[in-house]
Amino acid sequence: MPYFDYASGSPVDERVIEAMLPYMKQHYGNPSSVHSYGFEARKAVEEAREKVLSLVNGKNGDIIFTSGATEANNLAVIGYALRNARRGKHVMVSAVEHMSVINPAKFLQKQGFEVEFIPVNKYGEVDIGFIEERLRDDTILVSVQHANNEIGTIQPIVEISKVMENADAALHVDATASLGKIEVDTESLKVDMMTLSSNDIHGPRGVGGLFVKEGVRLQPIILGGGQERGLRSGTENVAAIVGFGVAAEIAKKEWKGDAEKMERLRDRIIENVLKIEESYLNGHPKKRLPNNVNVRFSYIEGESIILSLDMEGIQASTGSACSSKTLQPSHVLIACGLKHEEAHGSLLLTLGKYNTDEDVDKLLNVLPGVVERLRMMSPLYKAKRG
Ligand code: PMP
Repeated sequence: MPYFDYASGSPVDERVIEAMLPYMKQHYGNPSSVHSYGFEARKAVEEAREKVLSLVNGKNGDIIFTSGATEANNLAVIGYALRNARRGKHVMVSAVEHMSVINPAKFLQKQGFEVEFIPVNKYGEVDIGFIEERLRDDTILVSVQHANNEIGTIQPIVEISKVMENADAALHVDATASLGKIEVDTESLKVDMMTLSSNDIHGPRGVGGLFVKEGVRLQPIILGGGQERGLRSGTENVAAIVGFGVAAEIAKKEWKGDAEKMERLRDRIIENVLKIEESYLNGHPKKRLPNNVNVRFSYIEGESIILSLDMEGIQASTGSACSSKTLQPSHVLIACGLKHEEAHGSLLLTLGKYNTDEDVDKLLNVLPGVVERLRMMSPLYKAKRG
């Protein structure tokens, strides 16, 4: 079945599963234990840390393993703000961040921090002028994602770091959507913290990490036995961490080839889908992730499109799976200036390394008919045609 929802969930690479199995069957020691099984587990965790650091050129920092990107974002935003509050209480986050950045920022607001949401243009690119203008002596943190998970727009992180060069604020970048799709280099992007997710590079779920540059101080948000440099208590999920490490090792070698293939398939989809009348691309036409297609169709609802596609054996999404429970239109599309009804008519396809030309053939055979059928049933469409 053609699967176009990789940003919500990805298959774990077979090589990753093979590498994880021994850590569930034989090497089940606790990395904190002072015996051979414990030493073995500790060694495996530290090797995985090196592999993840290597993928993001993190030679001047460390990785704190977490339960996933959500927790890493919480640690970055809340942990950094609480630890550095004495220097100031002004925080800026982009309006198109994932809810795991937006909601921690709103939490900070309730704790007395002053939070500003950085606006974006119609392509979802953040307004660098806004950041430059609003940076103050008491600004302690700016959080902007590397690329958007819904509309695929790649943010100008290098330019943002330049603007922040002389400021005392830390830059946090959520690289969940970009890792394994475009170059992710903590040195050239000059980040202080970066969120990384395992499943998005075909590692297991339930693990992620926060890259923390040397010298950056955080307050832990999970307290306990002091694991992960005292910043994330709880016995390490060794098998998952090993899997994340191997996924990172594979991604480092193979991401470019995978990305080229995804980009070719993405362009085939975009070119052909936009032939459907009154269809529009969401996100940036050029500065966009190689695996992202987000198109809106006038007069119909994204939910009806994905249900119809599912009946044809094609799996897709309407936007961020994380917020589709709320029935609210995507905050990302609204921030880009779309009206509610426009945002509701969006279809999100995220490609992965296992997609093929046959998958795309099937999609392109089916989608125009689905859109036409749904429009025939749409009162809005009927009204327009008289
Ligand atoms: N950040 C971004 C950009 C995301 O797309 C997601 C969801 N895939 C997350 C953070 C949160 O990831 P998770 O639900 O795996 O914690």
